[in-house]
Amino acid sequence: MIPYGHQSISEEDIAAVVDVLRGEWLTQGPAIERFEAAVADYCGVKHAVAVANGTAALHAAVWAAGLGPGDLLWTVPNTFVASANCARYVGADVDFVDIDPATLTMDARALESKLLATRESGGRLPEVVVPVHFAGQPCDMALIGELARDYGFRVIEDAAHAIGATYRGVPVGSCEHSDAATFSFHPVKIITTGEGGMVVTNDDIVAARAREFRTHGITRDPARMSGGSHGEWYYEQIALGYNYRMTDIQAALGASQMKRLDEFVERRIELAERYRVLLAGLPLVPQAPLANRGGHPESRSAWHLFVVQLTAEASIDRGELFDRMRAAGVGVQVHYIPVHLHPYYRELGFGPGMFPQAEQYYQRALTLPLYPAMTEMQQDAVVDALREALEEKQ
Ligand SMILES: *Cc1c(COP(=O)(O)O)cnc(C)c1O
Repeated sequence: MIPYGHQSISEEDIAAVVDVLRGEWLTQGPAIERFEAAVADYCGVKHAVAVANGTAALHAAVWAAGLGPGDLLWTVPNTFVASANCARYVGADVDFVDIDPATLTMDARALESKLLATRESGGRLPEVVVPVHFAGQPCDMALIGELARDYGFRVIEDAAHAIGATYRGVPVGSCEHSDAATFSFHPVKIITTGEGGMVVTNDDIVAARAREFRTHGITRDPARMSGGSHGEWYYEQIALGYNYRMTDIQAALGASQMKRLDEFVERRIELAERYRVLLAGLPLVPQAPLANRGGHPESRSAWHLFVVQLTAEASIDRGELFDRMRAAGVGVQVHYIPVHLHPYYRELGFGPGMFPQAEQYYQRALTLPLYPAMTEMQQDAVVDALREALEEKQ
C-alpha cells in the first residue's frame, strides 16, 4: 500500500539520536535548546518552546495567551479536532468560521462578516481565533491580523501542516500577523520527532507562560516568584501546568530533520506540481492557492497534503472512489470530517447545515499520497489507479 504520508529518516538522523542515547541527558538537556534555536532561526521568531506533541502546543498556546473559562475561541470546521479541543481543555467555548470553497482554509471575509454581525447583535466576540494552514497552505493572515486589531482578539495559528511554508515571502511561524503559532512533528507531518510539537511567539509573556505550562506551572525565575528565591534548590509552582516536555531523544531527531526541511518542502512542491499536470482532464479539482484569490504571489504551501475534490461530473461518488483506490493498493485518506459534526460537538449544539462549505467539501474530498520519498513511479501508479477507478463503469 502506498501510504498518504510517510517520514523520511536519514543515517544522520539516526546518528543524532544515538548520540543522545550515549550521552548524559535523555530529557531536559541541551538538545531541546538546539532544536528550539533551529526552529526559531528558520522562522525568524523570538521564542520557540518544544512540547510533547502538536495538541499540547495548542493547549499551551491558548492558555499562555490567556484563554480561560467563559471565553470563546473560533476556528474552522475543516481541521483536526485538536484545533477546537484546545479551547475545551481550558474551559472555553468553541465556534466556527466556514472555509473558502477554493482555498479550503478559513474564509477571512466570512470571519469579517461573522465578527461584524456578532458585534451588531451584541453577541459574544471571540478572545482567540485559530486559523489553520490546511494542507500546508497559509491562510489570509494579513486580513486576519487586521481584524484581530479591530476586534481585540488574539490569533494563534495552527501551523501543524505548515512548517516550511511562506506567507508573502516570510516563513510561517514568524508570527508577523499573530500572537503565536504551533507546529506538530507527528511522522506524517513535514518534519518529525516521533511525537512532538512547538509553540513559537514574539511575545515574551506568552513564551514564559508556555514554558511554565509544559512543566507543571513551575518557574525557576526569581522575577516570576511571589517572594524571591530561598536558594539554588528553590522553585515555585505559580500556575497549574502539565508535564508536556519533549525528550532530548526527540529534540535531537528534530534538530537533525530541520537541516532537510527545505529539501523536504521542495520535493513536496515538485510532486504537487506534477500531480496538477497528471490530473488534468480527470473530474478532480485540487486545492486552489491563495494567490489565485487576490493573495500574494510569494506565498508557498508546505504541501503537507494533496487534496482533491471529486466534481459532480464524475460517474462515482467519493466513497466508491476511496474504496476502489484502497483496493488498488493506494492509501488515500479523507481530511477532514467537519469538527462540528462529531458527536462531542453535536452535543454542544452544533449540527449539519451550520457550515455548508466545509460540509460540501467533506462530501467530495480525497487526500492523495504525498511525501518526500515518494517516487515518480509511485505517483504514476496513483494517477493510473485514479484514472482506472474513474473510468470504470459501475
Ligand atoms: C496533527 C495536527 C494537530 C495535532 O498534532 P499532534 O502532534 O498529533 O498532537 C493539530 N492540528 C492539526 C491541524 C493537525 O493536523
